Amino acid sequence: MDTIMLLITIAVVLYVIFWVSKLPPADPEEVRKKREAFERQLATRHQIDTYGYISPAMICPHCQTKGQISTKPVKRKKGVSGAKVTGALLTFGVSMLATGLSRKEGLTQAHCGNCNSTWDF
Ligand SMILES: [Zn+2]
Repeated sequence: MDTIMLLITIAVVLYVIFWVSKLPPADPEEVRKKREAFERQLATRHQIDTYGYISPAMICPHCQTKGQISTKPVKRKKGVSGAKVTGALLTFGVSMLATGLSRKEGLTQAHCGNCNSTWDF
């Protein structure tokens, strides 16, 4: 029984090799095009991950180019505010413990694909 299974396996493998060898050899030009398309897709993926999706209506405030702006929502940690530091000093750190010195703020990050500027609004 095991011998039959082995023979069937060998037959299947030979059959596959036969068909693969009959396929036309890979065209280097075709391979290159496929690789480039794949790399472009990866670059687009990276662009979306880093800068978000293109907003076609937005105009870049730096270079005035339209349709090159990617936006995505971001959370930015706001810096230490002067008032809070003064408050912390006056109350010997009690207010600092109560409110914390920094807070997170929801913003939109924009990136221009033309002049490569990135800014928040
Ligand atoms: Zn720009």
